[in-house]
Amino acid sequence: MAAPCWQWIACSPVRKSVVAGRSTQSLAVMRETLGGTCEHCGKGFRYYLVSNGMNGSFHAFCERCGRTVMSESYVDPKTITFDPCICGAAISFGASPRCPHCEQPLSAEGATLFLERNAPGYAGGWRWQRSWRGEYAFVIEDRLLYNHHWTKPKERWWQVWK
Ligand SMILES: [Zn+2]
Ligand SMILES: [Zn+2]
Repeated sequence: MAAPCWQWIACSPVRKSVVAGRSTQSLAVMRETLGGTCEHCGKGFRYYLVSNGMNGSFHAFCERCGRTVMSESYVDPKTITFDPCICGAAISFGASPRCPHCEQPLSAEGATLFLERNAPGYAGGWRWQRSWRGEYAFVIEDRLLYNHHWTKPKERWWQVWK
């Protein structure tokens, strides 16, 4: 008997989210939680970086709460729209992470200070990308939605599997 479509990971992003538990566990090996400081209120928070290069993933941020949203998909991020954040606001590739205390958006330039000071690879030449886009996804206080659901506006046929 042929396997039904939903058994194929490549079939739809819905199926991908089932894989999320395993992926998040492998992420834990790669991430090291470090301390950063808010440029607005001066309070500290914990953060880690996830390299998209190692996961074949891409990321964005919630426009309201600044939560990090990542997805592991072989899709052009420009062609997809993430579902809303668990806080109800939109996810945007142009949004920034926010301080967990004062909720102000953080600047990627301002974060360079603690990111490079803390980076184990700094002495070996590692430099922060100075942007919230790019290879590294910045995650504050473990506020990460991994393999968050997204849709491709022109290809909604697979939604039948929801
Ligand atoms: Zn703050
Ligand atoms: Zn949110």
